[in-house]
Amino acid sequence: MIIESVTLHQIKMNLKTPFGNSLETVSDRDLIIVEVNDAEGNSGFGEGVAFTTPWYTEETLQTSWHMLRDIMIPLVKKRFIAHPSEVNGMLSEIRRNPMAKYAIEGAIWDLYAKKEGISLSKALGGTIKKIKAGVAVGASDQETMLEEISNRILEGYERIKVKIKPSQDVSILKAIRERYPNLSLMADANSAYTLRDIDQLKALDGFNLLMIEQPLAADDIVDHAKLQRELKTPICLDESIASFDDARRALDLNSCQVINIKPGRVGGLTASKMIHDLCDERGVPVWCGGMLESGIGRAHNIALSSLSNFVIPGDISASTRYWERDIIHPEVIVEEGYINVPEGNGIGYELNRKELSRVTVVKEVY
Ligand code: MG
Repeated sequence: MIIESVTLHQIKMNLKTPFGNSLETVSDRDLIIVEVNDAEGNSGFGEGVAFTTPWYTEETLQTSWHMLRDIMIPLVKKRFIAHPSEVNGMLSEIRRNPMAKYAIEGAIWDLYAKKEGISLSKALGGTIKKIKAGVAVGASDQETMLEEISNRILEGYERIKVKIKPSQDVSILKAIRERYPNLSLMADANSAYTLRDIDQLKALDGFNLLMIEQPLAADDIVDHAKLQRELKTPICLDESIASFDDARRALDLNSCQVINIKPGRVGGLTASKMIHDLCDERGVPVWCGGMLESGIGRAHNIALSSLSNFVIPGDISASTRYWERDIIHPEVIVEEGYINVPEGNGIGYELNRKELSRVTVVKEVY
C-alpha cells in the first residue's frame, strides 16, 4: 500500500444541543477528516478529534493540522506500508500529539481493510457482532439532565454517564438514583477534583456507580492510586492514559480498575489494540469513550469496540444523538440498545460527500 495523496477537510458541525462538562460547553464541533488515497483510486478515512481549545488535552485542531501537514503526512506519503500496524512505528519519533497520529493512522487502517476486502473490525481482530450502546449526558441544570436521562432510556440506552463537578455531584446523583435505583450509571469528572476532596469523593460510594471516571489531574496516576485505595467505586482513567506505557504504569500502580480507551487520546488504533490486549491479560475491563465524533470517528470506535475485552458499553450512540445529519451513509442507529458492527469493507459506512462539502470550512490536498 502506497499513499499517493492526503486530503485534510476541516469541518464544523452544529451539535443539536450544547454539551457541557466540568470545564466548558461545546456548541459547534470542529473536526478534521483525513482522507488518504492510493494510485488505484481507493480512499481511507480517519478523524482528528482534537477540540479547538486545549481543555481536554494539550492538542487543538490547529496543532493537529500543523502536525499532519508539516510532519506526519511527509513521513507516510509515497512510502510502502505493508500493514497499518507499521504506521505507529513510522510516527514514533514524534513526541505525543496522539490525536494527529490517530487521524492519519486510522485513515490508513480503513484504506488497508478496504483493499483487503474486509471490515475494519475484522482487520483489527474484532469478534463482537453487535455492541451495546451507551450515552453521555452533559452537565446542565438538574431538571434538564433528568429529562435527558429519561429520553435516553426511552431510546434504549442502557448505560448512562453523567458529567459531575464538585458543585454538582451528590445532588445530581441522588436525584438520578431516586428515580432510577437500578440504572447502569457512571460519572465523569474530567479532573475536577484533588485529593483534598477525598471525603466528598468517598460520599459517591453510596450511589452504586459502575465507576468514577478521571476524578483527579490528567497527569497524576500516583494520586489516583492513593484515591483508589480509599474508594469502593472503581476508578476509570481517561485523560491520564495517553499511550500504552501510561496504561501499563497505571495498572502496575493500581491507579484504576477500568480504562477508557479512546483511539485519539492514545495515538491510534494500533496503540488502542495494544492497551486492550494488556488490560485483557490483567483482567481489567475496557470501554470506548466518545469525543463528540462525526460518523467517521464513530465508525472507527464501533470497529474498535468489537474487540473481545470491550465488555462495558462505551459512549457510542446513534448519529442522531448529536447531529441533525451525519456525514456518513447509512447513519449509525441504535436498535434495542445495540449497534450492529458493520460487515462491509473498511469502516463499513459510506462517506456522504454532499454533506461533507456542506460542513467543510477548509480543504487542502497534499
Ligand atoms: Mg472522560
